[in-house]
Amino acid sequence: MKQIAIVSGKGGTGKTSVSSAFASLSTNKIIVDCDVDAADLFLTMQPTVLETFEYEGGKKALINPEICTNCGICEDLCRFDAIHLVDGQTTVSEFSCDGCRLCVIACPVQAIQMLENLDSRWYISETRFGPMVHAKLGIGEDNSGKLVTQIRDRARKMAKEKDLDLVLIDGPPGIGCPVISTLTGIDIALMVTEPTLSGLHDLNRLIKLAKGFKLKSFVLINKFDLNIAMSSQIEAHCESENIEVLAKIPFNRDFVDAMVNQQTVLEYSPNSELSNQFREIWKRIALEFK
Ligand code: SF4
Ligand code: SF4
Repeated sequence: MKQIAIVSGKGGTGKTSVSSAFASLSTNKIIVDCDVDAADLFLTMQPTVLETFEYEGGKKALINPEICTNCGICEDLCRFDAIHLVDGQTTVSEFSCDGCRLCVIACPVQAIQMLENLDSRWYISETRFGPMVHAKLGIGEDNSGKLVTQIRDRARKMAKEKDLDLVLIDGPPGIGCPVISTLTGIDIALMVTEPTLSGLHDLNRLIKLAKGFKLKSFVLINKFDLNIAMSSQIEAHCESENIEVLAKIPFNRDFVDAMVNQQTVLEYSPNSELSNQFREIWKRIALEFK
């Protein structure tokens, strides 16, 4: 069983469209959406949920107004600026609270307790391309890395049980905890970037992270023709890092139109240049699995 993750140094590069195209092209696989903070692979996969699971996204502080004396100690101590006096009562913002428990320890009258946050869910689903494991992190919830690990573990287990050849992962953007959880133990990282200065900067950070994992990595430059000079700069940088640029894809409205129609590019425009290009890219990647 092989595992490939499609990742990007920043959001908005077209990573999910690329993942969707690969879902069309690959066989005997399980799909995993590890972009749990902004899951959108479901738009093209249209999964039918078979099982739903609760996920404990971390604990948040809650102040009991009956006990609190509004002394202000917790407000002064909270490094996340999560505690404020609101309408005469010291209150915790659940979106800002990091769950560190410092306020609980510091409160002289034990007015604060930690409550479990159970707004997050993860799912086992079926799609027209095979089984899919995905998740939805509640607003302001933490521990997305732990959630990614959890859904990846389940996907690997299902792949073994069903004798599947591939785990196809739509990864999160950036280089934070969920990305680290996504890259751990995979075989190939395909980094999708775009020809902008920030695209190059964020790609470089991702390359450095992937090197730490000693991963086989490739780069795909999306919308390369919007800035040919910057695309050349990205290519030169990849060469200096000994990373193959697998493909350069021109700007194409089919990406957006396919998404709007809840289809992959291969379904939306099967005979287009773009679809043919994806077929060639997938053939090249499949060679790495042999
Ligand atoms: S648990 Fe930590 S982050 Fe949350 S309110 Fe208390 S001190 Fe602030
Ligand atoms: S430290 Fe305790 S008593 Fe003081 S404001 Fe915070 S919750 Fe209220």
